[in-house]
Amino acid sequence: MKGSIKQRFQSRLAERQSQALYRQRPLVSSPQAVTMTINGQAYINFCSNDYLGLAGHPKIKDVVCKDKAAGWGSGAAHLVTGHHHYHQQLEQALASWLGTERALLFSTGYMANLAVQQTLMQSGDVIIADKLNHASLIDGALASSADFKRYPHLDYAALSRRLASTEQQALIVTDSVFSMDGDLADIAHLTQLADQHQAWLLVDDAHAMGVLGEQGRGSFSHFGVMPAADHILMGTFGKAFGTSGAFVAGSDLLIESLIQFARPFIYTTAMSPLNALATLTALELVQEGDQLRARLKANITQLRQGLADLGMPLLPSASAIQPVLCRDAAQAVSWSEQLKTAGFWVAAIRPPTVAQARLRITLSASHQPEQIAGLIEAFAQLTKQ
Ligand SMILES: *Cc1c(COP(=O)(O)O)cnc(C)c1O
Repeated sequence: MKGSIKQRFQSRLAERQSQALYRQRPLVSSPQAVTMTINGQAYINFCSNDYLGLAGHPKIKDVVCKDKAAGWGSGAAHLVTGHHHYHQQLEQALASWLGTERALLFSTGYMANLAVQQTLMQSGDVIIADKLNHASLIDGALASSADFKRYPHLDYAALSRRLASTEQQALIVTDSVFSMDGDLADIAHLTQLADQHQAWLLVDDAHAMGVLGEQGRGSFSHFGVMPAADHILMGTFGKAFGTSGAFVAGSDLLIESLIQFARPFIYTTAMSPLNALATLTALELVQEGDQLRARLKANITQLRQGLADLGMPLLPSASAIQPVLCRDAAQAVSWSEQLKTAGFWVAAIRPPTVAQARLRITLSASHQPEQIAGLIEAFAQLTKQ
């Protein structure tokens, strides 16, 4: 049916508003940090993904500001004239750190997830995905010509039955640390299932890279397995690395195939070479970041203990992502607003992003114990009402 854009959206917008589902962009006017100015007010921030506190790190800023070998713009796609030697250096540093043959940069994690699934999987193949995978993994699966099946969250018996009952080439796709629940996929089990059934495996390490594993190498390292030829490791820089962009690490043949055939790699401008330089510096900070990871771990323990003492319903998450489930979207919004009044910024995450509305607390190595104690106290006030 023909009509105006207004006709199509007016009622949908009104409906969102009436259901406490309307989304807004908080306006930030300070550097990304634990204390931030948002909509003109000072808050203690408990919802960024800056797990190691690198987003505003002075060393990264310093290196970028002093550089003379790159301009801000990359000017073109990697296959044209956009591939600066900082990009090359970063790819090589990532591959040697992770123990894979090669790594390939992408402008965003969203695009990397599209690229891998669209490029690897053909019509007649099947993508088998955890039900709680990140939206970018779902969109990537939908953008490929393969069939798309999902197994219940972390249910590897169900996954195994699916793999055993198909003759199609399968790609198992999973978050390692799940972005909205904070729990962890069993990468050792998944590599074993993939190998047993000649399936391929894509692991999205957005929330594990820099945090889990030896030197922060991510989920494979955490489980003591090395990515093999049919395993694909995807990581992002927007979380613990504190910059932006993403990469895929794997075999030489995988990376070469992505360079030749992946549309989200080919048809887009390369990330700023200075962002690659910033990320090289972030990689060094991640590698020498054992103290930051220990601080983060202590912060997670303190928060979980405090909220458990209040009887808050916690999920089985050992990660920096600590959701507090709410009755409904209205309660999530109301609690988030009350926490704001107390000076804490904690995002309400609502359907359709998640099935059950929640407050999603994220912790950073930069949080001080007093700030976490303050948040726990603010939760105590909420539950008294
Ligand atoms: C953030 C995130 C992405 C997307 O990465 P961007 O670089 O922000 O596009 C992909 N997967 C997961 C699990 C994420 O949390």
